[in-house]
Amino acid sequence: MSFTDEAQSDVPLLSEKHSGIPPFLLEKARKAKVSVFETRTKPKATRNRLPVIPHGIEEQVFVDALGELGKQLGVENVERNDKPLTDGWYMEHPNTHDLMAVVDEEELVPSAMVYPGSTEEVQQVVLWANKYHIPIFPISMGRNLGYGGAAPRVRGSVLVDLGRRMNKILDISAQDYTCLVEPGVSFFALYEAVKEKGYDHLWVDVPDVGGGSIIGNTVDRGVGYTPYGDHWACHSGLEVVLPTGEVIRTGMGALPGNNTWQTFPYGFGPYSDGIFSQSNFGIVTKMGMTLMPNPGGYESFMYTFQKEEDLDQVIEIIRPLRIGNILENVAQLRHVTQSIAVIGRPRSDFYKGDGTIPADVVHSIVSNFPMGDHSWIYYGMSYGPKHIRQYKLDIIDAEFKKVPGARRIDPATLPADEYFWARDRIAAGVPDIQELRWVNWMPNGAHIAFSPVSPIRGADATRLFELARRRHDQFGIDLFPAFCVGLREMHLIVELVYDRADPRKRRDVLDCLRHLVDDAAACGYGEYRTHLVLMDQVAGTYSWNDGALLKFHEKLKDALDPNGIMAPGRCGIWPKQYRGRGWEMTKTSGENTQGDGVAPPSQ
Ligand code: ADP
Repeated sequence: MSFTDEAQSDVPLLSEKHSGIPPFLLEKARKAKVSVFETRTKPKATRNRLPVIPHGIEEQVFVDALGELGKQLGVENVERNDKPLTDGWYMEHPNTHDLMAVVDEEELVPSAMVYPGSTEEVQQVVLWANKYHIPIFPISMGRNLGYGGAAPRVRGSVLVDLGRRMNKILDISAQDYTCLVEPGVSFFALYEAVKEKGYDHLWVDVPDVGGGSIIGNTVDRGVGYTPYGDHWACHSGLEVVLPTGEVIRTGMGALPGNNTWQTFPYGFGPYSDGIFSQSNFGIVTKMGMTLMPNPGGYESFMYTFQKEEDLDQVIEIIRPLRIGNILENVAQLRHVTQSIAVIGRPRSDFYKGDGTIPADVVHSIVSNFPMGDHSWIYYGMSYGPKHIRQYKLDIIDAEFKKVPGARRIDPATLPADEYFWARDRIAAGVPDIQELRWVNWMPNGAHIAFSPVSPIRGADATRLFELARRRHDQFGIDLFPAFCVGLREMHLIVELVYDRADPRKRRDVLDCLRHLVDDAAACGYGEYRTHLVLMDQVAGTYSWNDGALLKFHEKLKDALDPNGIMAPGRCGIWPKQYRGRGWEMTKTSGENTQGDGVAPPSQ
């Protein structure tokens, strides 16, 4: 498809494709697509580095091995990655590479994509990978954008795209408020299914953009914005194909004939689920998830705070309210620069200079916005019937107004397309796609996150904010910080937005991030999640007792995956075949993601 055809083609619907858009968001998606392609200047890629073959295997042996797999899965379910890379956009994302490439886009690419249709077929893929010592990399939907998208860590891995054919909602229990899903079920799809069944008493917790899969988001420990925001904490029960091909069910799922797999996560004995999240120890083929009861009413609110220095006081106010559940959801405290970027216009519409956009420009722009000038903006939601909400809202109001200049913005004054309403829908479990819009800040906009965890304390927030500001200024990158407040901790999410077609911008962003990770670690802050290219560095910061935790992970890896085939290097865990061969990416790796081969199978 030509670039223009691609830009003009319609957005696939959920009824046509597992990764499609629900009808109620179609118009919004169409508009988002137009604005993405308006700012795109990146030419269609040619492939300069073909063929892509897994390390340590002859091309013909690989081709024959794929042929063998094709006989098992059907030839149409085995595809080589040898065509020009098509970026698409969020709703039509590629599984051939990282849409938000931060290194050369031909670096983190699979050699082939395979589409198993059942747990048994996933087992077949795993056994095949062991037979040929071919690395495989599972994805559910591959929309983990900002953290690597669909890309594998090891170039030439065979991508196991689970979502395309394994996308059934296996159960929604109206009695237990739970569901059981396959990897290709998106938040969009689950939301639509709950509505279709008329289960108004059930809510789905959705992330900022609802197109990701429930399993992919949860195993990577993503968050949503209702009180059920910690997805990993809300899951119950996994079915996993191990790297040697056996299938297990965790928790109560191990008990034949049970009816509690989705209601009691632990079962008996060690709680093994943890090793299947942010790891490379297995492929999750089914997962249970708890659903939130409809609270019987809800109401969003928004406060603005005038000065950047208010951050300390605001966070100190948030902590006891959040731990005490007066502030009930995973809310966001966002910086003013984001209030501008989220409207979806390119930065050049506002400022054409180099370096970061100056504060006086930011404040003069935002003064004309419906919420008026501010430095920080808090988006929250109160749940329950009116009288219960009012009790909490009064406390929140009294507390936030202790900050000089704090203002509660009356939602009735805000237009229907104001970002506030997207946050309102998300906090009420209705998926949206508006969040994408700030990616248009740069032409060929891409994003990658710096996401350290801290306690909910003013001093920590200020320290992290200043640390981020310093490095962003140094590299001339606009700063987009948002504090997402969990129950006793906060994730600071700083999205670095860059032009992915510009190698210099990519390098600056990556250099900036590498400094940020080290700066934060030096102060005792660690990332909660990271992009493929930063995984080694981040894992290295969790180094207490001479790296004892990573050594433990390596021990598990070698025991569970003796041939080292399952997502080598993911989350900094390398199997023995790769260790000591320079695969780890560090400050000096530049764009090179690859080491010096793998040990031959006999070792
Ligand atoms: P999303 O579904 O939100 O688009 P992805 O499919 O990109 O998320 O998954 C995020 C990351 O989690 C992937 O990079 C992959 O390593 C891991 N992952 C996703 N699905 C599975 C799964 N079913 N089993 C094991 N790991 C998975």
